[in-house]
Amino acid sequence: MNDSVPSRVLLSAGLQARIDSQELAGRLRKETTGEVLFDRGSRGRYATDASIYQVEPVGVFVPRTPDDVALALAIARDARVPVLPRGAGTSQCGQTVGAALVLDNSKYLNHVIAFDKEAMTVTVQPGIVLDHLNAWLKPHGLWFPVDVSTAAQCTLGGMAGNNSCGSRSLYYGNMVHNVVAINAWLADGSQARFCELDAMRAGASGRIARLVDTVEAIAVREHAEIAERYPKVLRRVGGYNLDIFHPQSERPYTRDGSVNLAHLLVGSEGTLAYTGQITLALAPLPKAKALGIVNFTDFSKAMDSTRHIVKLGPVAVELVDRTMIELARGNPAFRPTIEKALIGKPDAILLVEFAGEDRAEQLRRLKNLVDLMGDLGLPGSVVEMPDEQEQKALWEVRKAGLNIMMSLKGDGKPVSFIEDCAVPLEHLAEYTDQLTEVFARHGTRGTWYAHASVGTLHVRPILDLRRDGSAKMRAIAEEAASLVRRYKGAFSGEHGDGLVRSEWVDWQFGERMMGAFAGIKDAFDPDGLMNPGKIVRATKMDDASLYRFKPGYAEQPLRTALDWSAWNVQTDPVTEEVSAPGTGGDASGGFAKAIEMCNNNGHCRKFDSGTMCPSYRVTKDEQHLTRGRANTLRLAVSGQLGPDAMTSETLHETLDLCVGCKGCKRDCPTGIDMARMKTEFLYHYRKRHGMRLKDKLVANLPRYAPWAAKFAPLLNLRDRLPGAARLSEHWLGLSAKRSLPRWRADTFMAGLGAPAAAPAEAAEVVLFADTFNNYFESENAGAALRVLRAAGYHVHVAQAKGETRPLCCGRTYLAAGQVDQAKQEARRSIDALLPFVARGIPVVGLEPSCLLTMRDEFLAYGFGEEARALAGAALLFEEFIARESKAGRLSLKLKALPQSTALLHGHCHQKAFDAVKPVQAVLGLIPGLEVKLIESSCCGMAGSFGYEAKHYEVSMKMGELALLPAVRQAGTDTLIVADGTSCRHQILDGAGREALHVARVLEAALA
Ligand SMILES: Cc1cc2nc3c(=O)[nH]c(=O)nc-3n(C[C@H](O)[C@H](O)[C@H](O)COP(=O)(O)OP(=O)(O)OC[C@H]3O[C@@H](n4cnc5c(N)ncnc54)[C@H](O)[C@@H]3O)c2cc1C
Ligand code: SF4
Ligand code: SF4
Repeated sequence: MNDSVPSRVLLSAGLQARIDSQELAGRLRKETTGEVLFDRGSRGRYATDASIYQVEPVGVFVPRTPDDVALALAIARDARVPVLPRGAGTSQCGQTVGAALVLDNSKYLNHVIAFDKEAMTVTVQPGIVLDHLNAWLKPHGLWFPVDVSTAAQCTLGGMAGNNSCGSRSLYYGNMVHNVVAINAWLADGSQARFCELDAMRAGASGRIARLVDTVEAIAVREHAEIAERYPKVLRRVGGYNLDIFHPQSERPYTRDGSVNLAHLLVGSEGTLAYTGQITLALAPLPKAKALGIVNFTDFSKAMDSTRHIVKLGPVAVELVDRTMIELARGNPAFRPTIEKALIGKPDAILLVEFAGEDRAEQLRRLKNLVDLMGDLGLPGSVVEMPDEQEQKALWEVRKAGLNIMMSLKGDGKPVSFIEDCAVPLEHLAEYTDQLTEVFARHGTRGTWYAHASVGTLHVRPILDLRRDGSAKMRAIAEEAASLVRRYKGAFSGEHGDGLVRSEWVDWQFGERMMGAFAGIKDAFDPDGLMNPGKIVRATKMDDASLYRFKPGYAEQPLRTALDWSAWNVQTDPVTEEVSAPGTGGDASGGFAKAIEMCNNNGHCRKFDSGTMCPSYRVTKDEQHLTRGRANTLRLAVSGQLGPDAMTSETLHETLDLCVGCKGCKRDCPTGIDMARMKTEFLYHYRKRHGMRLKDKLVANLPRYAPWAAKFAPLLNLRDRLPGAARLSEHWLGLSAKRSLPRWRADTFMAGLGAPAAAPAEAAEVVLFADTFNNYFESENAGAALRVLRAAGYHVHVAQAKGETRPLCCGRTYLAAGQVDQAKQEARRSIDALLPFVARGIPVVGLEPSCLLTMRDEFLAYGFGEEARALAGAALLFEEFIARESKAGRLSLKLKALPQSTALLHGHCHQKAFDAVKPVQAVLGLIPGLEVKLIESSCCGMAGSFGYEAKHYEVSMKMGELALLPAVRQAGTDTLIVADGTSCRHQILDGAGREALHVARVLEAALA
C-alpha cells in the first residue's frame, strides 16, 4: 500500500486524478468537519467487504453532517477522484470495494429525520441500521419489513443501494417496493428529491429536469427490449431498474401503478447518486404469527411442494437443508431449538410463516398447511409451532445459516457468486438438482437454504481461490447461468452485482440494454465518479488482481507464542474432512489462518444483546471493531502493511481498545478470538519494544502480592495522600480518577489453618483462590469455603508444593503479552491441581477470568493432555453448585434474604463460556429472591484496562452503555451481583454501589 492515488483503477475508469491522496486528505481536513482516514491501516480496513475482493481505497472520509458529504463530493470532483458511499460494508459481491474515496455514513449519519404515523412513512439518514430503526418504530406498532439477515448491522442506505430483500419478501416485497423517495446528490453537486414522476417533474428544473427527460426517453425507447429482457420474477436485483416505467416484476413497484424515480436509484449500488435521506413505507407490526415446519425426507419434494404452499398466503417459506440441519444440531446453542422442529431425520425442512392481525386466522391457515401436506402425500409431516418465542428462536437458527457454514476451517471457503439466482417456482426442483450435479462435476458441493417462497435459494460451492478455485468459479457460473436462462430466471436475485456479477449484467440483459444502462449511468454521472466498475463498464469476476487472496498472497513466517495449529488445516470440499492440526501449510503455524476466518460479514457491528464488540459500541470506529482488527492483522501477517507490521504502532493502536472480553469468541459466527490474537500480538510487540513500568507492575502483581500484603497500609496511601493519585497518573499512567484495589494483610490464604485429611466418604472439591480474591477480597473466598462446607463438601485449598507463594492462572501476564511467564504460572497450577483432578475431584474457582483461563488459554500452551484434563475438571463456583443442585446432590439449607431482588451482571468471560445461567440458577435457589439479568456488554474495566488514564473515558462509556444506568435505577433494597473483580470495581466507581460475588450472597442466605 502506498500514499498515491492508485492509478490502475482510476485509469481503468477513464480517470486521471488531479492531486495526490495527501493533498486530497489535506483539503478534506481543512474544509470539512468529518474524520479523514488516509493512513495505511484505515485504507486496509476499508479495502474489503463480505465478498472475495480487496481493493485499496484512495482514502476514507467519515462525514459528521450532510454538509460534509456535499463538501467531500465537491472536493473529490475537483480532484477527479471517484467516490464510494458505504454503510456497514456487508455486501457480498464487492459493491463497497474500489479505488475511490470511501464515505462511511454509518458513524454519524444515522438519524430519523421525520415520521408520519398516519401515512406510515419515515424519513431516515442513510447510515441508520435496520434493527435500530425497527426498535425506534416498535412503540408505534410499526416496522420496516424488509427483514434482511444482516438486520443488526446493515444500513438503510446500503439496503437501498443493493435493493435488499428479506425473508418475508413474498409478502412485503424488496427494497424497491418499500422506498417512497430518496433525496440525493449527484456527482456534479446538484441535489434532487427522487420520488413519484409527476411530483418530481413539478419540482425539477435545469439539470434535474433534463435528467428526468433523458431517463424517460431511454425507457420509452427500450420498451420492447425491457419487456423481452427483464426476468419476470420478484427477485431480480441485477442491472438498473429501468423497468419502472413498465414493471416486469411479479409485484408492481408502486401500489397505484405510478412511476417513482427513487426506484431507479434503488439497487444502483452507489453508481448513480449519493443518498442523503430515504423515505420509507412502513407496515403494521403483525399481531399474530403461526409457524409450520414441513419435514421432507426428499429434498426435491420440498422444492416441488413450495409452489403449492405459497398459494396458502404465507408471509415466508424458507428452506433449511440437511447439511444445515446437521450443523445446527451439532451446535449446542442451536440443538434444542432445531430439534423441536424436526420429525425424524429429514432431508430438508420448510419454515412456513403466517402472520396478520388475527390469531385465530393464522392458526386456521396453519391447519390448512397440515391439510395441504396430507393432500400432497405427506400426512404427519408438519410440526405446528404457534408459540412466538419458539418461532423466534427457530428464525435465529435460520438466520445464522450462512454464518454456520462459514465456520469451515482451511483455505477452501463457501464462495458467494451464484448464491442468489432466482428461478420461477415451478422449476425450483429441477434447477437445484441440476446445479447440485454441476457442483459434483467440479469436485465440490453446496448447502441449500433460504428463500424458497420466491425461488431464491442460497448456495455457495466450496472453492479454494488461492489454488484452482478461480477457474472452477468461472466454470460453475457459466453452467449456472445457462440453467437460469433455461428457466427464465434472474442471475442476481438478492445480493446485487458488485464486482462479482456486474460482468453478468450484459449476459442477463443483452448488448442493447447494456447500452441503455450506460446511457443512464452517463446521464447521472457523466465523469464516471460514482463507484466506477459496478453494474456497467465492469471488470471480470475472476480478475484475480482484485481478490482478497491475490496470486502471491502468503502468510509470513512467524514463531508464535501460542498454539494455533487447530487452524492450520485444510478441509475437503466434498467430505468436509479436516486434515490433522498443523498440516495446513501456514508459515505462522495457524495464526494467520485463524485471522483469515473473518469473512467481513460485519456481525460484530451489532448492538443487540451479547457482548461483541464493546469498543466498537462506544467508538463506532471500524478500527475498534473485531472485523477492523482482524483485517488489520490479516494485512500484517501477510506482509501487506510492511516488514515489521506485526510489531508496529499501527497494529498496537488497532488492538489497544480491545478489552479482551472474548465476546467475539462466542458471538462471531466464525469464532474469531481477538482476545487471544491480541495476546499473541502483544507478545511480539513487547519483545521488540519492551515493557512499560505500568505493564510490569500489573503483570507481576501475583509475584509481588505476598510482599505487598505485608506493606498494605503503605501501598494504600496512593488513594489517601493528596496528590498521590495524580503522581501515579503521571508516572504510571494509572488514572487519578480511579481508586485502586486495596491491599490487605488478612488474606484468605493467611487465615487458613493446616490442611486436614478428607473424612472417608466425604465429597471433595479443591478451591482455587485466585490472586484477587485472595489478596483484595478475601471475604469472597472465605464465603465460598463456608458455603461449600455447609453443603457437606470437604474443601481442599490448592497450593503449590513446597512454595508459600499462592497459585496463579497467569492472566495478568497474558494481558501484558508475557506468554512465557503466563505459561510458567500455568505449569505451577497444573502441577498442583492434577493430583486432585486424577482423583476425580473438581477444581472450583471464583474469578471468572482466572478460572476460565484454565479452560481456554491453558489449552494453547502446548501442555497437551494434562491441560485438557484440568480444563475438563475446572468449574466456576456457581457452575459447581448449579451442577450439584441439578444432580440432586446439593444439600444446602438456605433462607430468604432481606432483599427480594438480585440484579445480576455477567462477567464477559462468563458470557463467552455460557456460564451466566448457572449464576441465575444458583441465586434462584434462595427462597423468594427474584433474579434479573442486566443485558450488558463489557463493564469497561476489563482487568487493568479501565485503570489506565488513557482508557478511562472509553472504559466509563462502556459502563454507561447499559450496566451503570441499570445499577443506578435499582433501589437500595436490590442486591447487585457481579462475579468479576473488575466489574465490581467499575460498579462502585461508576454507580456508587457495592456489588457482591454470588458466593457471598449464598453465604448470607445460609440457614
Ligand atoms: C451473512 C450475510 C447475510 C446477508 N443476508 C442478506 C439478506 O437476507 N438479504 C439481502 O438482501 N442481503 C443480504 N446480505 C447482503 C447485505 O447485507 C445487504 O445487501 C445489506 O443491505 C447491505 O447493507 P450495508 O449497510 O452493509 O451496505 P453496504 O455494503 O455498505 O453498501 C451496499 C451498496 O449500497 C451503496 N450505498 C451505501 N450507502 C449509500 C448511499 N448513502 N448512497 C448511495 N449508495 C449507497 C454502496 O455503495 C454499495 O454499493 C447479507 C450479507 C451477509 C454478509
Ligand atoms: S470478526 Fe467475526 S463477526 Fe466480525 S466481520 Fe469478521 S467474521 Fe464477522
Ligand atoms: S475481545 Fe471483546 S473488545 Fe476485543 S474484539 Fe473481541 S469483542 Fe471486541
